[in-house]
Amino acid sequence: MTATLPEIFQQEYRELRPRAPLPEFHLEFYRFANVNNTIRLREGHILVRISDLLETAPKSVLRAIAHILLAKLYRKPIAPTHAARYRQHVASHHLSAKVHLIREMRGRKRIASAQGAVYNLDQVFDDLNQRFFHGLLGRPQMTWSQDHARNHLGHFDPAHNTIVVSRIFDRQKVPRFVLEYLVYHEMLHLKYPVRLKGTRRCVHGPEFQAEEKLFPKLEEAKKILKTL
Ligand SMILES: [Zn+2]
Repeated sequence: MTATLPEIFQQEYRELRPRAPLPEFHLEFYRFANVNNTIRLREGHILVRISDLLETAPKSVLRAIAHILLAKLYRKPIAPTHAARYRQHVASHHLSAKVHLIREMRGRKRIASAQGAVYNLDQVFDDLNQRFFHGLLGRPQMTWSQDHARNHLGHFDPAHNTIVVSRIFDRQKVPRFVLEYLVYHEMLHLKYPVRLKGTRRCVHGPEFQAEEKLFPKLEEAKKILKTL
């Protein structure tokens, strides 16, 4: 049985303050520009806003957030296990990439485009879809990133059904198959959505990895990626 968000907060409140009467909670997921969570006490009610980027976070992460916020509110020490669980989740590759993308979309309003200076991402997707997926994948929004970030080369954002590829690949000197490998990897994320395995996120599962190996010149592409 999995606990709902109010249940998680009630349980964590009980842990922290076993004898105090249970207050009323007002919980909401909120569109902060970044990962952010706030807690306030007003007229005996506890008001909590959790970043909507964490809406799909595993229960253990939500539990950690509940603990941290309540401990903060009542000036109690934060349990190291909860602090570590939360930190680990926020630092995870996929979440930081998502944060980056959303910041970009919510912050500066720019028009996303699949057409780059050299490569058209829609064409790359359609071509790979035919070659490797029998044309079965629905094309998400394909877009070049607005900057030339090297820390996230590409990523699939399920919330916005978007594949974002770093603009550093939109250059003449980048061989097409290297860009294709990157898009292929993100297409596998489309094919194998992130599933919960217990409380652990299984991001590149065995099926994912096996299928990734089917990409021709995989090792060569990875090698070139490191030099860009
Ligand atoms: Zn990946």
